[in-house]
Amino acid sequence: MRHLYSGKVRDLYQTEDGLLLMVASDRISAFDYVLPTPIPDRGRVLTALSLWWFERLADLVPNHVVSADVPAGVPAEFAGRAVLCRRLDMVPVECVARGYLAGSGLTDYELTGEVCGVALPPGLEDGSRLPEPIFTPATKAPQGEHDENISYHAVARAAGEDLAAELRRLTLAVYARGVEIALRRGIVIADTKLEFGRDQAGALVLADEVLTPDSSRFWPADEWRPGRPQPSFDKQIVRDWLLSAESGWDRHSGEPPPPVPDPVVERTRARYVEVYERLTGRRFG
Ligand code: ATP
Ligand code: MG
Repeated sequence: MRHLYSGKVRDLYQTEDGLLLMVASDRISAFDYVLPTPIPDRGRVLTALSLWWFERLADLVPNHVVSADVPAGVPAEFAGRAVLCRRLDMVPVECVARGYLAGSGLTDYELTGEVCGVALPPGLEDGSRLPEPIFTPATKAPQGEHDENISYHAVARAAGEDLAAELRRLTLAVYARGVEIALRRGIVIADTKLEFGRDQAGALVLADEVLTPDSSRFWPADEWRPGRPQPSFDKQIVRDWLLSAESGWDRHSGEPPPPVPDPVVERTRARYVEVYERLTGRRFG
């Protein structure tokens, strides 16, 4: 296999027959840093969750998954964290759906009353539920830079009206399905980012990871209270520790974060397993 690329969390390889092997590591990022301490099983949870969602979305949109069985000759430690995919011609748009206000959506709203050109009613707060989910695309920024929100019309100008409309339709359909399933299990999916590509016939295919806590904001439904930042279902434990006096780390120092102590690692691992088990109703491992 040929190594193609490593992101903050995943490593991509191309197999001899031209397929893509996406491998989710146990690396975790917080405050834009990859932490020096991995969270055991995190990559396996993220991979299993994506696969579970792809199945539950298959009637809405085709996906890039070829097989969850790793090909012969692949290192044993890839088992459970690798997915063999069709290599697509990726659409260079981050397709974001938001049902709640947070992150860059909140920032844009506070400045302009809009998110990506979608006007929203006045009086919304951090964490508010939107009147209805909205499509808020972003450009895919080069590594290390932040994605930039753009309007639907900018996507239509760059990609054509038909493709833009189809991306919006599919993104909102996937998000609606995800929200409905997750809410029944006590998890609010505040927003999510999807990536689409085209196959050789030109058809749109859902790619990358889908509806994971890395590509989405997951909030515990019973702790959702607009008007303040919402706790994150998965990363709150690590974030709180990093910001505590105990870590000795100053977020604005420019220094990388210190190693994470075992009890914090263990509680974070348990949180990921809980996300998986709550959503899927299956036992992990
Ligand atoms: P970050 O570290 O912020 O996540 P990243 O998104 O570039 O950065 P990864 O998510 O690890 O890092 O990389 C996955 C890459 O693979 C993305 O560039 C994504 O667009 C691409 N990709 C996902 N699925 C496919 C596919 N089926 N065919 C081709 N490229 C794909
Ligand atoms: Mg990514």
